[in-house]
Amino acid sequence: MAIKMQAAVVEQFGKPLVLREWDIPSPGACQVLVKTEACGVCHTDLHAAHGDWPLKPTLPFIPGHEAIGLVTAVGSGVSSIKEGDRVGVPWLYSACGHCEYCLKACETVCPEAQFGGYTRNGGFAEYLLADPNYVAHIPAALTAVEAAPLICAGITTYKGIKETAAKPGEWIAISGVGGLGHLAIQYAKAMGLLVCAIDIDEGKLAHAKLVGADLIFNAKSGDPAAALKKETGGGAHGVLITAPSLNAFRQGVGMTRKRGTCVLVGLPPGEFPVPLFDVVANCITIRGSFVGTRQDMAEALAFATGGKVKADIELQPLSSINQIFDRLEHGEVASRVVLDFAPGESGTSSIEEQNELRLTTA
Ligand code: NAD
Ligand code: ZN
Ligand code: ZN
Repeated sequence: MAIKMQAAVVEQFGKPLVLREWDIPSPGACQVLVKTEACGVCHTDLHAAHGDWPLKPTLPFIPGHEAIGLVTAVGSGVSSIKEGDRVGVPWLYSACGHCEYCLKACETVCPEAQFGGYTRNGGFAEYLLADPNYVAHIPAALTAVEAAPLICAGITTYKGIKETAAKPGEWIAISGVGGLGHLAIQYAKAMGLLVCAIDIDEGKLAHAKLVGADLIFNAKSGDPAAALKKETGGGAHGVLITAPSLNAFRQGVGMTRKRGTCVLVGLPPGEFPVPLFDVVANCITIRGSFVGTRQDMAEALAFATGGKVKADIELQPLSSINQIFDRLEHGEVASRVVLDFAPGESGTSSIEEQNELRLTTA
């Protein structure tokens, strides 16, 4: 009989997750079993549980793609990692390794890519399987809870900033200062950029200032594009839209400087109008960006080990997942919630004490 674990499971789209027992999977050939220590909760998990996108996961499934844990068993043919290694199991769960995109080290767009917590069960569970060739290698300097947000929110924004091609000393506008955005600001500053942060929540904007934004604009009280163009002398060289709001996408194109690049990262369902004349006449590039490659992962983690980037986290137990989703949907999560599967193991005893300590040292 299979041994059971606790998991938060999407059984129906748009319904609360079900906390229930699930068989602990066994690693097959070229797979490893990871015992979850921590897993961040990304807005993507909410889109997944709502069935927001054209490609839907097969029900039932376990979300979570910011899982960090220790390898507890390895299948046959695994030589690159061993039991006891700390790894991250990211959104890019695996790719084929031989298509034209994999050969060019663009594995995020591999047509055979599998996605953690989406087409493969993820980290809202005590154990999960992983592909040893695609796990993140977590530096010893980072704890599991510190590393969790970096393997999606971190890598995605770091890659997105690179895709804007903005150079040191130039402006980047970051729309949405949630889990992704608060890290984006820190990466952008560390990369030598001037940062303008945009959100619709004053608390998020105050936080943006704290983590390094040079300028802030509230998009609730109007279109920030005109103000941004005035302050920056023509608009941002790069724009990174992380907000899960179609309005933010329309505004983001308007914030882009002539010959600048607007990178789309947020994934609200739907479409947004593109002002063709402005885009053509101003030679603006609009580009999508999807997580990052394994090389991007190593670089994104290195910024954190070098002390340049630090996720602001709130720890919660797996059992709170439905309240967390509710807060995320209503913009009430300050930055990133991380599910803590091993409270006490990373320092002070309880989740409450750790959250308290973080607030008093912030
Ligand atoms: P989050 O809920 O933590 O943060 C979203 C932020 O956007 C909040 O601060 C909110 O106040 C702000 N916001 C909402 N409407 C806005 C508007 N009109 N203008 C400006 N700000 C606005 O979400 P998150 O975890 O940071 O994820 C954000 C989005 O990025 C989601 O759609 C998610 O699916 C997507 N995502 C994409 C990738 C990728 O690879 N492209 C990877 C991870 C997440
Ligand atoms: Zn994510
Ligand atoms: Zn491929």
